[in-house]
Amino acid sequence: MYPMVYVCAYIVGVPRSIEFAVDAAVLFLVTTLIVGLLQIVLRDRDTAPFIATFFLMWMFSYASARALVVGRTVFGIRIWSHTIAIPLWLAVLGLGLALIPFKIAARPNAVRSLNVFAVLLLLLPIGSGMWSQRHDAPQSLPSSGDQTPPHVVQSNPPDIYFFLMDAYGGEKEFRSLLGFDNTKFLGELVRRGFTASERSYSNYPATYLSLAATLNMDYLASAPVGAGQYKLLQSPQEIVESIRHNTVYRYLQSAGYKLVDLSIWDEIRGGGKCQEPLENPFLNSFSLELINMTVLGKPIAQNLLWGLRNSRLDPCRLDAVREAIVTNGPKLVYVHLMLTHVPYMFTDGGEFLPVWQIVSQVKINRALYFSQVNFANSQLLNAIDQILSSSPRPPIIVVEGDHGPALMDPDAEGIRLRQSILNAWYLPDAGGATTDIPSSPINTFRFLLSRYVGFQLDPLDDRHFAADLEGKPRTLVDVTERLRELHP
Ligand SMILES: [Zn+2]
Repeated sequence: MYPMVYVCAYIVGVPRSIEFAVDAAVLFLVTTLIVGLLQIVLRDRDTAPFIATFFLMWMFSYASARALVVGRTVFGIRIWSHTIAIPLWLAVLGLGLALIPFKIAARPNAVRSLNVFAVLLLLLPIGSGMWSQRHDAPQSLPSSGDQTPPHVVQSNPPDIYFFLMDAYGGEKEFRSLLGFDNTKFLGELVRRGFTASERSYSNYPATYLSLAATLNMDYLASAPVGAGQYKLLQSPQEIVESIRHNTVYRYLQSAGYKLVDLSIWDEIRGGGKCQEPLENPFLNSFSLELINMTVLGKPIAQNLLWGLRNSRLDPCRLDAVREAIVTNGPKLVYVHLMLTHVPYMFTDGGEFLPVWQIVSQVKINRALYFSQVNFANSQLLNAIDQILSSSPRPPIIVVEGDHGPALMDPDAEGIRLRQSILNAWYLPDAGGATTDIPSSPINTFRFLLSRYVGFQLDPLDDRHFAADLEGKPRTLVDVTERLRELHP
């Protein structure tokens, strides 16, 4: 029961009862099977449950044990990196099994203390779940005002297609830091009338931070905690909530826009358009997080199952974009594609990679990343061509990364790569001429809403924040100047 309660308390909240029931049944079966097998092998009714318990505890504490050492190095080695942590954890299992004196289970005390330990384990997440529910009540931050400012009504404002390409980096960084030439794709966009920015940097290095800023058209609330360092004032849950109920939606709705939300935020708790892949008992967030606690978390949950889930969601979202083209506007179609995000699933031509190549992605592989980029490019061009040929009136199309890939160590150049983003715009009145498009996402919708929808929104200064990407970052480092020095 411990892993299930843990996932409910710390990660996903209360899952659907069917997901909970299926996973509980699977866990129960697996446990029974392990105990049964051990009893047959050891021919000892007392030792078998003892070893099984040790094994399951070992199994489900991998993620927690790893979390304890994340960010620390021993003799310069990052012991938390999965390449080191998985073999280390297997060694712990071997050691534990070798050290369990087989007679120990016969002693009543040993079994009793194990039971007490198990009850404690169970109480811990229940207690802390209740504690955090009481104390994490949303702090009400001074919000920028819930009312929408007046706007000058425009006749027939254009449809807006916002393609958010997760972890799609910038052309200059691809070329100079990774030796990959993406100019052919950008050329194709320019040929279709797009303006492609040569140097654009994300304001934040993680998806939910970046999108909270983009869609609320403002920097996240933070307090300075040292030279160039800031601490976020909102919890990750509050930040995600601010994406779901974002300012851009509110402004556009007040101007008569319809919203076609094909983002990753709605599906988290159901309600998104592409629900079908998530009905699969093994692709839902609850099951994935359960596996994520174990040593199989990286290869099976994060690589194989997340990858499969994304590779079903992306085409579903692209289909939904195509369906939306001919519906009456004005509308905002916001589609978030995971094609260029880990794990990498496809060849350049869109064939699935062999399973071993998917599960074994521990270190991020540049060649695989660029195969994904090539495949994503062809998917994007297809969708864009359909939008341009079927739209009743010339639309706005923004194709933007939320941050770049984490393909290098986070030194100066690694940070620059991580902050670099794809940024290309089709504007109805640009006529192929180069337009001054915003160079960071903070101004994406300030620009669009002012120029095409009739709001008065001044651009903000470009600022860029980096963060340690293990876990959910709370402390940010202002790297605006550093990026400028590296890339004047
Ligand atoms: Zn992202």
